[in-house]
Amino acid sequence: MKYIPVIGLEVHVELKTESKMFCGCSADYFGKEPNTHTCPVCLGLPGALPVANKTAIEWCIKIGLALDCKISLLSKFDRKNYFYPDLPKGYQISQYDKPFCEKGSISIRSGNNTKTIGITRVHQEEDTGKLIHDIVNEKNVSLIDFNRSGVPLVEIVTDPDFESAGEVINYLKKLQQIVRYLDVSNADMEKGDMRLEPNISLKLSGDQELPRYKVEVKNINSFRFVEKAINYELKRQEELLEIGETPKQETRGWNEKKQITQSQRSKEEANDYRYFPEPDLPPFRFEQSYINELKNGLPELPEQKLYRFQSEFKLTLYDAEILTREIELADYFEKTVKTGKAKNLNPKQIANEIINKKVNIDEISPEVLAGQIQAKFQFTKVDKKELEEAIKKVLRENEKAVKDYRSGKIQVIGFLIGLVRKETAQPIDTLIIKNLLQKELSKQ
Ligand code: ZN
Ligand code: MN
Repeated sequence: MKYIPVIGLEVHVELKTESKMFCGCSADYFGKEPNTHTCPVCLGLPGALPVANKTAIEWCIKIGLALDCKISLLSKFDRKNYFYPDLPKGYQISQYDKPFCEKGSISIRSGNNTKTIGITRVHQEEDTGKLIHDIVNEKNVSLIDFNRSGVPLVEIVTDPDFESAGEVINYLKKLQQIVRYLDVSNADMEKGDMRLEPNISLKLSGDQELPRYKVEVKNINSFRFVEKAINYELKRQEELLEIGETPKQETRGWNEKKQITQSQRSKEEANDYRYFPEPDLPPFRFEQSYINELKNGLPELPEQKLYRFQSEFKLTLYDAEILTREIELADYFEKTVKTGKAKNLNPKQIANEIINKKVNIDEISPEVLAGQIQAKFQFTKVDKKELEEAIKKVLRENEKAVKDYRSGKIQVIGFLIGLVRKETAQPIDTLIIKNLLQKELSKQ
């Protein structure tokens, strides 16, 4: 290959806190009547003062910890200045040079290998309002809904370590899974809980340095679109490079209708935003013990659960991957294993049933499922031949017990059932063994 893709990613994740980032308004705005979740702070009225949401900051730090970041013990908020009608203050409260979390990493799947992607930073900021372009009294108008204004966002920035759209998608799926396991965001793409901005460039194979340009594609809200946008850009840029041009450093947008990216504006530099420390919020100083506490409070993360399921339950990677994809399903599986133990079910049988039958975990309780699997085993999975042979062997080797039974001590059948059970590889219902044993014993 002549060119190597150089791709980095910015992801904005909306947190599902009860209240907004810097005021007490409800952050549960989706589908609500416009401009009903607002106050002077999130409307940016003069003199209104922000108060930081402690839960949001803890969740931001948890995301950082789950991504193996270093947590800054000294941190602060900054103002990012720009003009846009959905930003009432004229600036966004964000973090510039002292983000909560920096220098992490995550391992992702790339083909049959795993690959480490560097996490540059994880910082906290606030969402903007929403512009709605509509027609009122036959006039084109732009309406603004400030319900989303000030909802907590966490921005996760990677190093430019991806070399294909496929790697980006694997990362995004994993990130989505992690924030859901942490229970800090629904990460629902359709609702805009996760917005994606890949930056894409190409370098000549063998080049050690990063390319001198990069193209950022803004605000994509679907994994499929991000894949298409990246592949489109790689092709477009290669064609430019091939005729000796350098692609322009710019921001582009994905046009789903035309299946192309389109130039929006030339890319801002950080100094265009005139970042400066937010004067209305004092800096943060964290104790290491507090960070440790947050770290110890993290739940078992997807990767740890995946490995544990393979070793503890002897599952294949494939099965373990499906069962740990969502934490609800993983919990359901473990509960079924627990109740299934008393019924002699092994985890593998339970995994098969859940995966192959696509069990609806909202409708069938783990207890009921375990019962169903047990019933199925009694009547369909008994290998009759194997069972008959086991019975014959046991009767051959236990002449005394057989004699006893035939002379009227019928309670020895319990002892014989136990021996047959040991002979057969799979759990078989007692009643079935008993019936066959009785039949065999009455033959002479
Ligand atoms: Zn508010
Ligand atoms: Mn941002």
